[in-house]
Amino acid sequence: MGTRSFAGAALIVAAVGSGCGEGDPSGTNRIAVATTTQVGDLVRNIAGTRTEVRQVLAPNSDPHDYEPRPSDARAVAAAGVVFRSGGDLDGWLDDLVDSAGGDAHVVTLLDSVRTRGDDPHWWQDPRNAVRAVGAIRKGLAKADPGGTGIYARNAASYVKRLRRLDRSVSRCIAQLPPSQRRLVTTHDALGYYADRYGIEVIGALIPSLSTEAQPSAGDTAKLVEQIREQEVKAIFPERSVNPKLERAVSREAGARLGEALWADTLGPEGSSGATYLGSIASNTTALVEGLSGGSRSCRPRA
Ligand SMILES: [Zn+2]
Repeated sequence: MGTRSFAGAALIVAAVGSGCGEGDPSGTNRIAVATTTQVGDLVRNIAGTRTEVRQVLAPNSDPHDYEPRPSDARAVAAAGVVFRSGGDLDGWLDDLVDSAGGDAHVVTLLDSVRTRGDDPHWWQDPRNAVRAVGAIRKGLAKADPGGTGIYARNAASYVKRLRRLDRSVSRCIAQLPPSQRRLVTTHDALGYYADRYGIEVIGALIPSLSTEAQPSAGDTAKLVEQIREQEVKAIFPERSVNPKLERAVSREAGARLGEALWADTLGPEGSSGATYLGSIASNTTALVEGLSGGSRSCRPRA
């Protein structure tokens, strides 16, 4: 998987990397790499204008099946610190670090958050984003001690916004009676959100923590049955995944097709999921609307 292109990438990196002075405060230490779109947004909020953030994944792309490019290895080689989401989601970073020379300082945010089993989608609980911000602040300050005060101030003000969002989402979901808090998604990506706000995950079209798995006909038939039995009002596709299967299942089960959720990726500028805060708020609005059968609406403060 991409091994040959990595050999090429390593050569390019070696050529470019030899020109970098170690510990140069205007260079290496003021560049951070982030793997996913969510991690990129969190890091940008703490880095401010002090550190440049290079994000590997583009908006609207699936992290589970990403294949890194030589330019990603160059970014890793140039960075003072690399922030990864962790787990299966961006397991491809290991190869990237190897091809970048292997000495990047990597901070795995999954290690600083509260996890549920081996589910890598930790950011779907805003309290985990607060924990991740703590690790990001420390990682940036370690690479660039001169910026410590700036990162601390940026982190404090962003954490306030995360906490406000969390309270606001709680109030929105509380509008749904417990019998309506039943969720079916594309893949099993919203477990943290569901745990945080008291929603039961009935199932997923791809019954896996990864989008790379394939559902069997039997899985899908069983899910249709569950949706009918439990009177789930809506099922939700995911942005960046074709909603064909969701549409077919919703039709067969007699449920609505809800608005697409921001699961594993943020969206481009101008979209409702352009930022982490926006993505959680947008998902909440979609869930309240869909799960209440259109009878309620709520827009959290993001
Ligand atoms: Zn996922």
